[in-house]
Amino acid sequence: MEKIDIKSCTLTELRTVTAEMGLPNFRAGQIYSWLHGKRVSTFAEMSDLSASLRSQLDEKFYINTVCIKKKLVSAIDGTVKYLYELRDGNCVEAVLMHYHHGTSLCISSQVGCRMGCKFCASTLAGCVRNLTASEMLDEVYTAQADSGERVDGVVMMGIGEPLDNFEQVMKFLEILSSPEGLNLSLRHVSLSTCGLVDQIRELARRKLQLTLSVSLHAPNDEIRSQSMPINRKYNVEQLLEACRDYFATTGRRISFEYALIAGVNDSPENAAELASRLKGMGAHVNLIPVNPVEETGYRRGDRAAIERFRDRLEQLGVNATIRRELGSDISAACGQLRRQDAAEQENGNVG
Ligand code: SAH
Repeated sequence: MEKIDIKSCTLTELRTVTAEMGLPNFRAGQIYSWLHGKRVSTFAEMSDLSASLRSQLDEKFYINTVCIKKKLVSAIDGTVKYLYELRDGNCVEAVLMHYHHGTSLCISSQVGCRMGCKFCASTLAGCVRNLTASEMLDEVYTAQADSGERVDGVVMMGIGEPLDNFEQVMKFLEILSSPEGLNLSLRHVSLSTCGLVDQIRELARRKLQLTLSVSLHAPNDEIRSQSMPINRKYNVEQLLEACRDYFATTGRRISFEYALIAGVNDSPENAAELASRLKGMGAHVNLIPVNPVEETGYRRGDRAAIERFRDRLEQLGVNATIRRELGSDISAACGQLRRQDAAEQENGNVG
């Protein structure tokens, strides 16, 4: 019989399986606290369980962990980039960032991505598989243990499309925010999506307190469809309609990501069109100078052009900021370290 990934079980699920095993009710809570409160990685460490119960658990379950394969620390701002190796040898990335208000961890939700955005390094080789809730949790637990810092916020903006891995991401959020675990308020979690409309609607129904970021990157279908294939499934108007409904249902304002690409989406007309489409949504626009990825051919404009774009939006009544870039010396943009590592492996240059 295949063993169960115990760290991906919510407390409710753990209660069900332990009841099936004939264990008393309180055991589930006890085991859950060992996994997500004390964050042990073996059953042997669960010292208040009898030896026979520990071996019973060992037979039925396994405890999933990730290990640090590479770690890069920025000399400029102390940003730490982790390359994690998963149980099956696949790798993903996470980035630990320091802000005045605390420490944030950007995590991956899939090995690769199948959304195919033209400017993004994470999707070039497609999607290998979804991450489990336990792997996403362990991205956080491992960064915390390694850095000795408490992670105050989590951003789901690493490799992968979180809403394409909906069920595991929901479990991850439930466990992450549970009082027996890290007890991290979902108000300190941002989830970024390229715009899967059906899942945005489903997420709205859950009424979570998290911040939804939508990667818009264009003011109209013509430009958006060129770089984001998802736009051919759900166009800009369908996406914005789902965003307006999301805001109405949850009361949570949406943040729109807009990567400025020179000559593609950064003209004053683009700013005006964007502002008119976002009007009245209470939206926030986060401008990102596009990170050049060799294969894309996209370039960023100069700083003055980016500031002009922001000012234009502000004049038209749309709240906009330019994202501060952290860890620029360690290629902290997502997907790049994983790709470098894979290329090194292919060339036989391991380690
Ligand atoms: N799949 C999710 C989250 C992962 S990417 C999403 O699409 O939102 C996190 C953010 O970085 C997204 O806004 C994405 O569009 C953006 N991004 C990807 N590649 C980029 C690049 N080369 N330069 C700037 N932003 C990029």
